[in-house]
Amino acid sequence: MSTSVQTNTDPAFQRCLAPDCAATYDLGQALTSCSECGGLLDVAYDWDRLPVPKSLRDFEKKWSRRNEPLCRSGVWRFHELLPFAPPEKVVTIGEGQTMLQPSDGVASYVGVDPGRLFLEYEGLNPSGSFKDNGMTAAFTHAHTIGAKRAACASTGNTSASLALYCGVSKLMQAVIFIGTGKISYGKLSQALDYGALTLQIAGDFDDAMQRVRQVSEQLGIYLVNSVNPFRLEGQKTIMYRVLESLDWQPPDWIVVPGQPGQQQRLRQSVYGVARARVDRSHPAAGSHQRHRCQHAS
Ligand SMILES: [Zn+2]
Repeated sequence: MSTSVQTNTDPAFQRCLAPDCAATYDLGQALTSCSECGGLLDVAYDWDRLPVPKSLRDFEKKWSRRNEPLCRSGVWRFHELLPFAPPEKVVTIGEGQTMLQPSDGVASYVGVDPGRLFLEYEGLNPSGSFKDNGMTAAFTHAHTIGAKRAACASTGNTSASLALYCGVSKLMQAVIFIGTGKISYGKLSQALDYGALTLQIAGDFDDAMQRVRQVSEQLGIYLVNSVNPFRLEGQKTIMYRVLESLDWQPPDWIVVPGQPGQQQRLRQSVYGVARARVDRSHPAAGSHQRHRCQHAS
């Protein structure tokens, strides 16, 4: 496996998140950790060399082209902000068609004024969870590099999502590792219905994760757990949709259920639009607003 430390010349590449390492790898490699230091990887872009829309309004205009799969997808509608795969290689099943909805009931419960609290309901995704946002991105990368099998360890949602993409696209065989009794049976039935090969091992999720990493590396199976940097690329679009729904004005607070790593990636999304140097179609009225991500559970 070749390493190209600090010498990558592609406009999109993989990069180690450890600041004192920052090794880079080309997009053609299926990696779940840095070969130099073992750290997590991110997908990075040289925005000076990539085209981006002139205005954020260009993303909104794609809503009117819903007969085009890449415009209908709430992930790939933002393709210019995650340009790691050519459009013809993108695998989409219509994920990410979610929107921000006001919830005065929850606002009242937590002591927020009516009309000031919104929920981005990701349960409307094809497999029933937010995982489809990341899965379409990882699956697209897997397809781009010619993978024929994709695997994950899961307690439910990830396996259902992977099995759905494999079953609908018919591009890959899904292989799922679960711990003993450590899976939602509703989600397991989704995976089985879509033809996933499901392996139950003795132990919990961590044991299943360790085993799937070993097997994937030994047999050349594409691993789609969240150590896969492309999963996180897709998940960032949740925040793009939130910002778009708020007319690109950042809210005071963004409350995210999940792990610290996920919060970091979503926080990156808030600034991702600026990094990509897409012009705001109007100045930010809330320049003094706080931009915070809060761990909710
Ligand atoms: Zn590294």
